[in-house]
Amino acid sequence: MAGFDAVFVGAGINSLAGAALLSRAGWSVCVLEREDELGGCIKTVNDLTAPGFTHELLAAWHPLWTGSPAYAELKDELDRRGLEYLNTDLPTGSAFPDGSSAFLTTSLEDNVAELDRHAAGDGARWQAMFDAFMKDADLSFGVLGTELWSGAGLSLGRQALRRFGRRGLLAYAGGVLTSCRDWLGDTFESDAAHGLLAPWTLHTGLGPDQATSGFMTQVIACALQLGGMPVPRGGGGQLVDALAGIVRDAGGEVRTGAHVERVLLAEGRATAVRLGSGETIPAARAVIASVTPTQLYGRLLGADDAPTDVARAAARYRYGRGEMQIHLALREPPEWYGDKRLGRTAIVHVSPGLDGVSRAVNEAERGLLPAEATIVCGQPMAVDPSRGPEGSWIVWIQLQELPAGRIKRDAAGELDVGDGTWTEKLRESYADRIVARLARHVQNLERATVARVVLSPADIEALNVNLVGGDIYGGSCALDQNFLFRPLPQAPGHRTPVDALWQIGASTHPGPGLGAGSGYLVYKELTKPALPRRLLAKVPVVGR
Ligand SMILES: Cc1cc2nc3c(=O)[nH]c(=O)nc-3n(C[C@H](O)[C@H](O)[C@H](O)COP(=O)(O)OP(=O)(O)OC[C@H]3O[C@@H](n4cnc5c(N)ncnc54)[C@H](O)[C@@H]3O)c2cc1C
Repeated sequence: MAGFDAVFVGAGINSLAGAALLSRAGWSVCVLEREDELGGCIKTVNDLTAPGFTHELLAAWHPLWTGSPAYAELKDELDRRGLEYLNTDLPTGSAFPDGSSAFLTTSLEDNVAELDRHAAGDGARWQAMFDAFMKDADLSFGVLGTELWSGAGLSLGRQALRRFGRRGLLAYAGGVLTSCRDWLGDTFESDAAHGLLAPWTLHTGLGPDQATSGFMTQVIACALQLGGMPVPRGGGGQLVDALAGIVRDAGGEVRTGAHVERVLLAEGRATAVRLGSGETIPAARAVIASVTPTQLYGRLLGADDAPTDVARAAARYRYGRGEMQIHLALREPPEWYGDKRLGRTAIVHVSPGLDGVSRAVNEAERGLLPAEATIVCGQPMAVDPSRGPEGSWIVWIQLQELPAGRIKRDAAGELDVGDGTWTEKLRESYADRIVARLARHVQNLERATVARVVLSPADIEALNVNLVGGDIYGGSCALDQNFLFRPLPQAPGHRTPVDALWQIGASTHPGPGLGAGSGYLVYKELTKPALPRRLLAKVPVVGR
């Protein structure tokens, strides 16, 4: 088969966005996906639960994508291909056990009023936090959008030093390291504000007592006010098709059922990949692998292809907590008890609050099924009514506090966990407990439910080999494995020790999510003008 400039391993968002961008830059590109469908964690499934219902089996919400530089570059082309984003002014809220609730909207004014409703003064504190964040948003978002282990990373550091001075920079860095618990305690008075924001820590792969969880939660809180909770009309499959279309129309190839078994090297440089079928696909300029470090160094490369310390570190790469998805099809919209806004909110966290999230995370990390998990209750039809028959509803539930490996026992002492693996019985019993808790907040839940599909962490891993143990974030996001240290301190960033071999995907900086950050950073690096042209661009043009 003819070769390509770049061959991508895997067809998740980072690969597809990177491939589309490189195609537009004139590269010939091939994307190889081992599953039967493209998209990786974006899996839109029609009729999953019942006829006429369209579910996002895994990832559902696109604020990271619509706020990304990749989307900014591709938007016009994607628009032309019919991709349309829908949004809401009510991205999130929390429903507490006593029937009260709290909300975050896309209006600063409304958020000030909402937080004041729970504790006078919290509104002004929100405003002050938001203003302070926005003043340095270029740096905060810059940390997540820059190749940190590079000249660009150094420039970002210098920019921060110029702005803050030495002591100020130290204070800023200290703020980045703060836990969510400390940040919330220092910033807001009411338990409701804490319970509104703490569950968002889970969406960063962290827990509320971990280093950097305060910074990450703050980034999300501000981003939600700024960007809401966009979803593509009809589901994420629309985005996947549009990106693949860009590659194909540029003459590139996008293949499914193509399991890459090996990256082939010639004189220490990646020059091709070999498929499970034995076929070899040459790559003249780059092989870009959207895989975990475990797979890259343990399977795709040979024992002598990478330095021993890197291969050893990759073998020790840690995966995070497991996750469960519950999908419900409802014949009518949910009737939430309490504040009617709950029925319009894209993502409702059903949670006892900050301490509840902390407890459930701790239980999961100790190998227990949490007694009172945080229920991430997504309501896609609050944003896109096209996902089900007229007058119906779907519920997308995430449970992000489950053990990473073998389950030791149930913290509530109710469920028999057997040998600690996810059997069908354990999966359904755990889901029953969650649905029963949700029914305490939604009065018609039981009678309105038409059908349900549940995915255990083991089912999730079976859908995508990168989600080891059902860790939906491609590896623990603890500080020693994040930012500068992702994926490995021995091989930071996206260059690997093998020439022309790049690593992208959730296991690499800036980590998980649909922002396509790693695919974009590698595209930028590969298309960077050669040094003389870069220097010439800086020479002032006389007479202008
Ligand atoms: C249940 C769930 C819900 C989520 N919800 C959201 C959300 O709402 N919003 C959000 O922003 N993020 C969400 N995330 C996180 C986000 O979806 C992921 O972090 C992101 O999609 C990962 O993208 P990726 O580019 O790393 O590739 P992935 O999506 O992980 O895709 C990688 C692909 O590579 C393929 N592959 C791996 N090895 C090989 C090989 N050797 N040969 C060929 N192909 C291979 C895999 O089959 C897979 O299709 C969610 C994730 C999950 C699992």
